[in-house]
Amino acid sequence: MLEYKVAPDALKGKTILVTGAGDGIGRAAALAYAAHGATVILLGRTVKKLEAVYDEIEAAGQPTPAIVPLDMKGATEQNYRDMADTIEEQFGHLDGVLHNASVLGVLGPFEHIDLASLEEVMKVNVTAQAIMTKSLLKVLRKAPAASVIFTSSGVGRTGRAYWGPYAFSKFATEGMMQVLAHECDGTNVRANSINPGATRTKMRANAYPGEDPQTLKTAEELMPLYVYLMADDSKDQNGQAFSAQ
Ligand code: NDP
Repeated sequence: MLEYKVAPDALKGKTILVTGAGDGIGRAAALAYAAHGATVILLGRTVKKLEAVYDEIEAAGQPTPAIVPLDMKGATEQNYRDMADTIEEQFGHLDGVLHNASVLGVLGPFEHIDLASLEEVMKVNVTAQAIMTKSLLKVLRKAPAASVIFTSSGVGRTGRAYWGPYAFSKFATEGMMQVLAHECDGTNVRANSINPGATRTKMRANAYPGEDPQTLKTAEELMPLYVYLMADDSKDQNGQAFSAQ
């Protein structure tokens, strides 16, 4: 899929929400979507990082993005409803959501699972994404063809020792994607998941502090799959678990 040849205007006229758009894979996806013609809604918790992505898109002469400062750890259902209303007012509909923001939590043996960290990981990686998607369905259903992409992980497909709540949350992500995809079968909305694989970001460096980042793929190298799943070329893909590497 890394060889997918993306048409330069594959996302022209589309409005796409990216969570965790200020850093890592989310930042690369926001820039790639804008470069392919989309108006990108940049959601994240660190406004400075979102503003830097906004400035980069503006400087490149691409469609002016929007910024939604939101910490998914504390956000309420009302926050997501308000966001959906604003999207409806400003854009009429939403063509895509990339659920990318996640937290790693604490890695370690099962006996050491910390309740507060478990709850935070499930809130950000699962609960917030479910309630955000629920709120956004009304604007997704108004799009000609809408794509919801969830971000999984290798440890969301096969359990691995010491990956704790992060792994549980990624299995839940796959389940959420499958339930949504089954409900949306035959409609204008599709849902799929991506396992990015080992990628040169802060999260990866935190999980593998001894690893040489130069041995890893960059987020930019994964973008053909991320663009493909937002583009109309993938209209018939629903309920699939993709791997970017
Ligand atoms: P990063 O930690 O580099 O980036 C995560 C992004 O999510 C950041 O922009 C961060 O914001 C944002 N975020 C975290 N918590 C919240 C929150 N509470 N509210 C709003 N935004 C939040 O991670 P990656 O880019 O590496 O990971 C992206 C996705 O890919 C994740 O879902 C991850 O699980 C998955 N993944 C990554 C792999 C890798 O090797 N990198 C491998 C497998 C899966 P801020 O910058 O403000 O902290």
